[in-house]
Amino acid sequence: MPKGKVAVVTGSTSGIGLGVAVELAKAGCKVVINDHTHSDEAREVAKQLAVDTGAEVAYVGADMSKAEDCEALIAGAEKEFGQVDILVNNAGIQYVEKIEDFPVGKWDAIIAINLSSAFHTTRAAIAGMKKRGWGRIVNIASAHGLTASPYKSAYVAAKHGVVGLSKVTALEAADARVNVTCNAVCPGYVWTPLVEAQLEDQMRANNMTKEEVIDKVMLTRTPTREFATVEQIGATTAFLCGEGAAQITGTSISVDGGWTAM
Ligand code: NAD
Repeated sequence: MPKGKVAVVTGSTSGIGLGVAVELAKAGCKVVINDHTHSDEAREVAKQLAVDTGAEVAYVGADMSKAEDCEALIAGAEKEFGQVDILVNNAGIQYVEKIEDFPVGKWDAIIAINLSSAFHTTRAAIAGMKKRGWGRIVNIASAHGLTASPYKSAYVAAKHGVVGLSKVTALEAADARVNVTCNAVCPGYVWTPLVEAQLEDQMRANNMTKEEVIDKVMLTRTPTREFATVEQIGATTAFLCGEGAAQITGTSISVDGGWTAM
């Protein structure tokens, strides 16, 4: 991809978001790291990324559960680096419970962070991309954007929504013929803090040990029987942001070890 593009990655102080930020920094982007903590630890992640890759990196704290913070993140990135060329909507949370016991507050939070934030950031960033004639939006969805599992009603609903939003965004940009693409990346299980945190919930919901959850719940639908890595999701995202992917738009790319082929 052309050097010096400005990339915003939501929820990028750990896990997949950080993996994506690393790959985009290595590819020559200026990168905006984000989470909702406004903490010294989060700022430290940005500083370390700059040291490790030599890229220009800024931290902008913003809570992706709030529309006004999503807009403030794009404004903050524009203040730091002048514009936003690449937007990776990655922030996401999970909660695992039967529908009848699913807390309403958790449903609302998952829909807000995992789905609505992608609308709010896209809404704030896409006009500038269209005006400048170059842009890439990558929405980190999930295998759960294409298929379902029990006990994940909010997450599956949000991720299916993200896949749909990606298609609409792609069509609107394609119609304007402005070299702006939008795609969804659909990981299967990736070993990150989010997955580690799910272990406890799954153990409780399924009455299983940690080893049983990994073998019988998490990787049971992964034909390769391996977790994907954050580096692999980062590499896929960086590819979608490159010139080689200029005609890839409105689609979903699975990085799931064959899960959705079954
Ligand atoms: P993670 O918990 O490791 O990282 C999530 C990041 O989002 C963290 O930096 C966290 O601080 C940030 N975050 C949380 N709430 C936020 C908020 N309100 N505002 C801003 N930032 C916030 O999770 P992960 O596993 O890296 O997941 C990242 C994305 O990938 C999520 O959208 C998730 O649904 C998706 N995904 C993960 C997997 C997996 O197996 N790990 C599989 C498919 C899809």
